[in-house]
Amino acid sequence: MLQQFYPQPFPHSYPFELNKDMNFSAAHYIPNEKAGKCAFTHGHTYFVNLTIVGNELDDMGMLVNFSDLKKIVHGKYDHQLLNHFPEFKEVPPSTEVMAQTIYEVVVQYLKGLANQPRCVQVIVRETPTSYVVYRPKVKESFQS
Ligand SMILES: [Zn+2]
Repeated sequence: MLQQFYPQPFPHSYPFELNKDMNFSAAHYIPNEKAGKCAFTHGHTYFVNLTIVGNELDDMGMLVNFSDLKKIVHGKYDHQLLNHFPEFKEVPPSTEVMAQTIYEVVVQYLKGLANQPRCVQVIVRETPTSYVVYRPKVKESFQS
């Protein structure tokens, strides 16, 4: 898990900040000769941390349901070959692209919630020594 470190999102003034850890196992490849061994199909256990902020809770007293966050990310990518998803046809699923894509998946889900929570940071760890932090540009995540 990501217990040992939590890169911080940009400072914000939302009263609620929620973090959700999860992991999923998936295969991918980077179809480029410059990618070396990564050009061959191989697998990772991806560790993901989502940071969600907001002003208001829903009628269950939640900013967003932890299990729904797991469902939309883990439920989509666990035990899949990532390159088969349409979102990775143009740009292959590198760690950076995974982080940005997971951000977009989460934002799409949050847009449907009445209390309007926002995602301000996505961390994707691909290996024990490599991870990416994706943060939307400040304007995108902080206008209310
Ligand atoms: Zn890889």
